[in-house]
Amino acid sequence: MDVIVGGGVVGLSVAWRLARAGRVVTVVDPAPASGASHAAAGMLAPVSEVTYTEEPLLRLGAASLARWPAFAAELREDAGLPAGGGAGEGAGDGARGAGGDGGGDRGGDGGSDGLDYRTDGTLDVAFGSDDLAALDELAGFMDKLGLRVERLTGRECRRLEPMLAPSVRGGLLAPGDAWVDPRRVTSALLAALERRGVPVVRERVLELVRDTGTGSETGTRAAAGTGTGTTARAGTGTGIETGAGGTVRGVLLEDSGVLAAERVVLAAGAWSRDLADVPVRPVKGQIVRLRSPRPLLGRCVRGMVHGQPVYLVPRGDGELVVGATQEELGFDTRVTAGGLYELLRDARELVPGITELEVGEVSAGLRPGTPDNLPLIGPSGVPGLDLATGHHRGGVLLAPLTAALLLGEEDDLASVCDPRRPATATVRRPGAQT
Ligand code: FAD
Repeated sequence: MDVIVGGGVVGLSVAWRLARAGRVVTVVDPAPASGASHAAAGMLAPVSEVTYTEEPLLRLGAASLARWPAFAAELREDAGLPAGGGAGEGAGDGARGAGGDGGGDRGGDGGSDGLDYRTDGTLDVAFGSDDLAALDELAGFMDKLGLRVERLTGRECRRLEPMLAPSVRGGLLAPGDAWVDPRRVTSALLAALERRGVPVVRERVLELVRDTGTGSETGTRAAAGTGTGTTARAGTGTGIETGAGGTVRGVLLEDSGVLAAERVVLAAGAWSRDLADVPVRPVKGQIVRLRSPRPLLGRCVRGMVHGQPVYLVPRGDGELVVGATQEELGFDTRVTAGGLYELLRDARELVPGITELEVGEVSAGLRPGTPDNLPLIGPSGVPGLDLATGHHRGGVLLAPLTAALLLGEEDDLASVCDPRRPATATVRRPGAQT
C-alpha cells in the first residue's frame, strides 16, 4: 500500500491518480484541503509565471498545463460532476487567442458543481515604458521557446477587458493559460477518492517509521514502540540522501499508532520538513476574495504595480480573487492590514472598478518554497520514501504532472524535479529569500 502524507491539492491528486492506476492507497491528513491549496488562486499560467532564470520551471508548467484538460475531465467523471462545457474542456489546446470574448463558453464548467476550469488565457499588462520594455523582452524570450504569446496595445487590452484602467499602455496575452478553482478541485478529488474507496485518515502523522533491519516487526505499532522503527530523516541537512540506512515502512499516527506502507509519499506542503529533512520553507501569501454580481473580467489579469506583482482571477460566479503577497515570515498565517492594503491598492491601479465590490474573504496560505523554486518529486534517496512537495507558487498547476511523474509517465522531466539534485543541498530556513 502507498500512504500519502498530506491531503492538499498535490497529495490528493497523487492519491487519486495512483488509485486510478490500480494502486492501493491511503491518504493521511488531519485537515485535508486546508493548507496552501485552500488559499490558492488557481492560475494555471506557466508562461506568465516564468522569469528568465526559470526555464526548467516553465518546462514543468507547460507539461502540466497540457495535462490539465484530461485531468479535469477525468476528475469530473470520477467525482460524479457534470461534464464540462467550457472552451478548453476536451479541446486540449485551451487557446482562444486575443479575439476571444472571455465571457462565453462557461456553461457547465463555471456552474455550482464544476471545477470552474477556464481556458481564456492570461493578460499581463504594463503601465510605464519600463514595464512595456520588460513585456517585450518576455515576449522575445517566449518566442524563442516556441510559446504562443500575443503583444497587445493598450487599446487592444481594453477591448479584451473593458474594466482595465485607461492608463494601461500595453499587454502580453498568453492565450494558452488557464485557471481553475482550487477549492472545487480539492473537493472533487476528495469525492473521487471516496467513490474509489480510498481511505482518508483524518489524523496527523507524527513521524515516518523506518525499519533499521535490527528488529523483526517493522511497520507496525510494536515496531515503533520497541525501537525497531525510527524516525526517517531524508537527509542530514545537506540535501536528501540515503542517510543512516533503513527503509521507510510506514507512518506513526497521532492516535492510531503505526500505519504500515510499502511506500510513503510525503506531500505535506510547507510542513514536509516536520517529517523529513527536506529543503522546504513556508512562503506566506495573503489573498483577498471579492464578490461581484457578475464577472468583472473575462480572463486572469496581472501586472507590476509599485514594483510588486498583482493578479486578478475571475470565477464564473462573480468572485474576483486578488493576490498575492510573498512574505518570508515562517509559519505565520495572519492576515495583516498592510498586506490587504497593498493588494487592494495595487489591484485598483489595474482595475479601478474593484472598489465597488464586496469583500468576501481574506486569507493567507503557506507556499512550500525550495531553494531553486523547483518542486521535489520522486524518490528521496531513503528507500520507501518518495517526495511530492516544494511546489511553491505552482502546486495547482503542477498537480497533474506530479502524479504523472510518480507514475513514471514523464521520465524526461524527472531529473528537473529529482529531490537529490545538487541545488537542493542547501537547506533554507524561514527568513531566507528566494
Ligand atoms: P498544502 O495545500 O499546503 O497541503 C499540505 C497538507 O499537508 C495540508 O492539508 C496539511 O494539513 C497536511 N499536513 C501537514 N502536516 C501534516 C502531518 N504531519 N500529517 C499529515 N498531514 C499533514 N499555485 C498555483 O498553481 N496557482 C496559483 O494561482 C496559486 N496561487 C496561490 C496563492 C496563494 C496566496 C498561495 C499561498 C499559494 C498559491 N499557489 C498557487 C501555490 C499552491 O497553493 C501550492 O503550491 C499548493 O497548494 C501546494 O499544495 P500541497 O498539497 O503541496 O500543500
